[in-house]
Amino acid sequence: MADLAERKPLALANWKMAMTVAESLAYVQELRTLAADVLDEVDVVICPPFTAIWALAQALPGSHLELGAQNQAAVNDPAYTGQVSAALLADAGCRWVMLGHWEVRRYQGDDDSLVNRKIHLALQAGLHPILLVGESAQEYQPLEGVLADRLERLLADCQPDDAEQMVFLYEPEAAIGASGPLSPEGAALGCGLIRNWLATRFGHLTAQKIRIIYGGSVSPAHAAGLLACPDVDGLGAGRKGRAPGSFAQIVRTIAQVKHSVNGFS
Ligand code: PEP
Repeated sequence: MADLAERKPLALANWKMAMTVAESLAYVQELRTLAADVLDEVDVVICPPFTAIWALAQALPGSHLELGAQNQAAVNDPAYTGQVSAALLADAGCRWVMLGHWEVRRYQGDDDSLVNRKIHLALQAGLHPILLVGESAQEYQPLEGVLADRLERLLADCQPDDAEQMVFLYEPEAAIGASGPLSPEGAALGCGLIRNWLATRFGHLTAQKIRIIYGGSVSPAHAAGLLACPDVDGLGAGRKGRAPGSFAQIVRTIAQVKHSVNGFS
C-alpha cells in the first residue's frame, strides 16, 4: 500500500469572478506572510480570474504558491472568441486547472462528456486537472451510484497515469455558498466513495497516490473536523479563499491536522 505520507496535503482558493490585479497581488503578499511557516507543508493552489493569471505568474515563483485557472476551453482551435485554451493557460503560467465546477455546469452548460474532453486537453497541455465531482442539488445525499456513474463518464479513456496527474475535489452542489459545509462524516463519505471508485477503476496503488479534497462552504472553524478522515487530503474554499486571513488559517489547519492524522512530514 502506498504510504499516506506520500500524499502532500492541498489547499485550493477559488476566487471566482472576484479580485482585481492589484487586489490579487496584495492577497498573495499577505498570505505569504500569514502562512509563511507552513507553506512548504501544503500545496497551495490559487485560482484567480483569467485577468490576474499573468500578473500572479510573475509574482509567485519562489513563494510556494501555485497557480490554477478556474476553467478552460473544450477545444484548441483559435476560432473560439472569448475562450481560453489549456495551451494558453499553461503558457501564461498555470500549473493547474479546475474542471467541472457546478457553476460552469449550470451557467455554461458543461456536462460530463464535455468535462472529459477538457481533461484530455488539459493533460495534453501539461496542466494538472482539479476535477470537481459531486452530486447535483437534486441528487444530493452521498450517493455511490451517482458518483460512480459520473466518474465513469468524466474519466472515459483515462489511464492510471492520467488520474495520477489529477486532484479530485468532492463538492456537492448543495454545499456551495451555503451557511456551512457538509458534516465531517458527509465529507469523509464522499471522498471515500471517490477513492473506492478510483481503486476499482485504476487499482489500489494508484488510488492511494491520488489526492482527494473536500469543498463547499469551508471555513476556518470547520476545517479541522472536515480533515479528520485520512481520505480527505485537503480543502477547497470559495468565499473564505478570497480573504488571506481566513485562507491562511485553513492552510495552517490543513498542515497541522494532516501532520497528525496522516503523518505527513
Ligand atoms: C465553490 O464554489 O467552489 C465553493 C466552495 O464556494 P464556497 O466556499 O463559497 O461555498
